[in-house]
Amino acid sequence: MGNKEQDARFKKFGTVSFTALTKVNDFIDHLEEGKITGTKCKRCGKTYFPPRADCYNCFNSEMEWFEIHGAGKLLTFSRLQYAPVGFEGDLPYTIALLDYGDYKVFGRTDPSIPYEKLSVGMAMKTVATKTGNGQLTYMFQEG
Ligand SMILES: [Zn+2]
Repeated sequence: MGNKEQDARFKKFGTVSFTALTKVNDFIDHLEEGKITGTKCKRCGKTYFPPRADCYNCFNSEMEWFEIHGAGKLLTFSRLQYAPVGFEGDLPYTIALLDYGDYKVFGRTDPSIPYEKLSVGMAMKTVATKTGNGQLTYMFQEG
């Protein structure tokens, strides 16, 4: 897979406020390996998701990757009837925010989970997956 393709993928992620920086494009490689990753500041230990190349807390640029695993708590969720350009075909889908303690992960819930089954506080895990057209992504499943 060429870099051009990776960058195009990251553009798609940009619509959910991912940083399209070359430095954090490893995120896509990790996703391909089935891992969802964020960055952690080597100096102050602050964790970021989506991954950031620089620490907002102490302005350090030495970051390391960490893997998001285990369950987070469903903090909030919302069913979308309108989607950003490029996502119209997916409607309706549910966006959600999982609380992992030190960081939060924004994404979509597994479309096979009925909206009625979702409730604030339930445990969910973040899993790597592919969209119908083969693009890499991740979603939340019951944890
Ligand atoms: Zn820092």
